[in-house]
Amino acid sequence: MMIRVSDISLPLDYNEQMLKKAAAKKLNISTSDIVSVSLYKRSIDARKKHQIHFQATVDVSLSINESVSAARCRSASAVKEYKYEMPRSKRLDKRPVIAGSGPCGLFAGLILACAGQRPIIIERGRDVDSRTSDVERFHRTGILDTASNVQFGEGGAGTFSDGKLNTGTKDARIRKVLLEFAENGAPQEILYLAKPHIGTDMLKTTVKNLRNKIISYGGEVMFETKLTGIRSAEGKLTAVEIERYGYKLELETDNLVLAVGHSARDTFEMLNQSGICMEQKPFAMGVRIEHLQSMINRSQYGDLYKSPYLPSADYKLAVHTAGGRGVYTFCMCPGGEVVAAASEEGRLVTNGMSEFARDKINSNSALLVGITTSDFGSEDVLAGVRLQRKLEEQAFQLGGGNYCAPVQRVCDFMNKQASVNAGSIIPSYRPGYNFTSLDRCLPAFMTDSLREGILLMDNRLDGFSYGDAILTAVESRSSSPVRITRDKTMQSVSMRGLYPCGEGAGYAGGIMSAAVDGIKAAEKILEFSNI
Ligand SMILES: Cc1cc2nc3c(=O)[nH]c(=O)nc-3n(C[C@H](O)[C@H](O)[C@H](O)COP(=O)(O)OP(=O)(O)OC[C@H]3O[C@@H](n4cnc5c(N)ncnc54)[C@H](O)[C@@H]3O)c2cc1C
Repeated sequence: MMIRVSDISLPLDYNEQMLKKAAAKKLNISTSDIVSVSLYKRSIDARKKHQIHFQATVDVSLSINESVSAARCRSASAVKEYKYEMPRSKRLDKRPVIAGSGPCGLFAGLILACAGQRPIIIERGRDVDSRTSDVERFHRTGILDTASNVQFGEGGAGTFSDGKLNTGTKDARIRKVLLEFAENGAPQEILYLAKPHIGTDMLKTTVKNLRNKIISYGGEVMFETKLTGIRSAEGKLTAVEIERYGYKLELETDNLVLAVGHSARDTFEMLNQSGICMEQKPFAMGVRIEHLQSMINRSQYGDLYKSPYLPSADYKLAVHTAGGRGVYTFCMCPGGEVVAAASEEGRLVTNGMSEFARDKINSNSALLVGITTSDFGSEDVLAGVRLQRKLEEQAFQLGGGNYCAPVQRVCDFMNKQASVNAGSIIPSYRPGYNFTSLDRCLPAFMTDSLREGILLMDNRLDGFSYGDAILTAVESRSSSPVRITRDKTMQSVSMRGLYPCGEGAGYAGGIMSAAVDGIKAAEKILEFSNI
């Protein structure tokens, strides 16, 4: 048995011996009583800039009676090893189908495959290696492949990302997701860091290994295969229509995990026309803001900003304007780049990504304004999509009509004047950019909120409103503008056997919550197989 000891403070340059010593001190025992020690959680405490240190929880195995030692210390408890419990199930008559190979679809597929249900995953985009070439070509030349891009393809929207794995969701299945990622190629540190991340470079391998695991358990993955229709009888799903290499086919199935992500606008239209209940959903839009990473490090770490023991610093800021509108940063990518994330012709979208090392010169983050359904300007369920498209088209035109992005320096944006060139910060967006005024592509309620938000955020993070910081438009796909209504069984209220899941259906907001939602849907399918 092991015991877990929390509340351990460690200097930035600690080593294993110091870790043992600190744990022994907490337990009031000798270091020699400790056989082994491993990190369970580690975070950075940077509240006092002159005393930045790590805060850790460790698992120790002792050569003396562990229960006695644990009893002596209030910060110690017995370690309960996490084990994922697969629900019992009967073999389904027909193979379950999963639309989408993002984190939601992949994890639903993994659970169903491991349960012996031989799921079929259909993915409109291409496998991760082909997709990497497609994305690189787009970023180099501005030639977009609408089927294979930063939104569509193996691994889903998060493959070309920072791969941040933190989430507000408190669900025991998070451990399952982290363990699967770590087993399949992600860095082992994700198992103990308070703010874990994988990075685009390592995500690609991880996603591929997860696919191979699903296949090794009897699952099947079909790329370049799009869900184009659903068939039902008496309110129950009976088959899905798919399009593969230009041919339409039908797959009979009783279960479809709909994990198509927030950019599957044609699929939303198909579902709406098929009478599947959907609702408008508030979301957020804005711009990417880019600073020098060294400036963020200095603001967060003070004089220690060059310490080799500290990672590239991040931030998370949220404020309310005087008018009550929320403005917040999202998906901050330390040492990363702003990416062209479009998936439709003539529409421009930004996002951010980093490699595992997070060692690029700039940091970037989404700077978003809350959009309520009353901003949509219509009761139509897809009005949010129309608003997104409108801003994406305006950004495309303002950038020059070739996927170059409109950009502006913060000083000019605050003064409502067009930028003509960069200052000390060079925009990282590829394939290129045009200096302009973002007021020309964003509505006034957004630009006014952004201006107010930037000033308020500067009170929280020194230098946030730095004049040379770069704004790139438009960040329009931070979350889904629709919710596909489901009940407690996770099935659509309109059709039994249809499981709307993940970010696109409005039930997740990042890699971890989408993966957990996929696991839950798979569990429901397994549970119902017993009835
Ligand atoms: C550039 C970028 C960076 C990001 N960074 C982070 C981050 O660091 N951390 C984080 O937590 N989140 C991040 N996100 C958000 C995260 O990627 C999403 O929340 C997550 O991927 C949602 O998972 P999902 O499985 O629900 O949908 P998605 O990942 O969007 O996957 C949906 C999949 O379905 C496929 N599909 C769509 N329609 C169909 C159809 N009709 N038939 C078949 N297949 C279809 C798509 O091609 C896609 O592969 C980032 C997103 C982007 C775009």
